[in-house]
Amino acid sequence: MVEKGRATGVVTADGSRYGATKAVVSSIHIHHLLDIVGEANLGPDYVAGIARWKPSVTMFAAHYALSEPPRFKTEAGSMASVTMGGLESLASLARMLAAFRAGRLDLDDPVILALTPTVIDPSRAPAGKHTFKLIGFLPYELAEGPQHWDVVKDEVADRLFESVAALTANLSPAIVLGRAISSPLDLERRNPANWRGSCHGGASTPDQSGWFRPVEGWSNYRTPVSGLYQTGACTHPGGSVSGLPGRNCASVLLADLGSSLVREEAAGSASR
Ligand SMILES: Cc1cc2nc3c(=O)[nH]c(=O)nc-3n(C[C@H](O)[C@H](O)[C@H](O)COP(=O)(O)OP(=O)(O)OC[C@H]3O[C@@H](n4cnc5c(N)ncnc54)[C@H](O)[C@@H]3O)c2cc1C
Repeated sequence: MVEKGRATGVVTADGSRYGATKAVVSSIHIHHLLDIVGEANLGPDYVAGIARWKPSVTMFAAHYALSEPPRFKTEAGSMASVTMGGLESLASLARMLAAFRAGRLDLDDPVILALTPTVIDPSRAPAGKHTFKLIGFLPYELAEGPQHWDVVKDEVADRLFESVAALTANLSPAIVLGRAISSPLDLERRNPANWRGSCHGGASTPDQSGWFRPVEGWSNYRTPVSGLYQTGACTHPGGSVSGLPGRNCASVLLADLGSSLVREEAAGSASR
């Protein structure tokens, strides 16, 4: 809700209205901010900045429930690991990026992350069982179009699984209790913040960093709408679970309200 250039509250999808006594803080993706707040309120420069926004390298995520942890082959024998990264050579990385840019799925020598959080935190699964996640860096924009992910995602998951299984002593379909596959398209469907499959708001290229994030000249968490603040992965310093965009935004917001993080923390009112 914007009245006379000032954010006065929020209307949710079910029609509920929430008045803002001091400010509105948005963490939604800036592309959706445009749809919600409107071009007229954001102004041409901000809107042009949103139009230039580029997604980051997109991820393919396959989640598994396992009856035992994968044991990776090492020179010291096989062992379970919370985190494993698979990158055979710089040539593999160059091939991955070339295929990514062309919208091709090159799975012969994939760059992979494999995570088994239950190795360090057994509370994440029933006793003795494990959660396992495979991350591939694959394009949202397939040459056949993003919808093609619905056709190929199970096969892609199988190929990634086989690549990682070859590095282990025991990973095979025999220890898989269940799986849930999220293609870059699924990630966007699940959470609009994963715009075009981008899981970190957008690329952290020089033209989308610092002064330019989210939009040139608006890196201070304020927006052209007075009382509307923007935080989250689209703002500095970008995506990942760092808490930093929120911390920085809170600092600016409190300054505008005549206070500061230090003062509020000292007063024990940070949570309020
Ligand atoms: C598969 C995957 C693996 C990742 N791995 C890591 C990792 O290992 N380490 C790491 O640090 N980061 C990781 N990330 C990135 C990290 O999750 C994000 O960068 C981070 O969560 C972004 O925080 P955010 O608050 O901006 O957005 P989000 O955490 O996405 O929160 C936005 C929230 O707003 C809701 N929302 C969005 N749009 C609307 C709307 N229009 N109306 C109402 N609600 C809306 C969403 O449902 C969501 O709940 C990963 C992300 C993915 C997808």
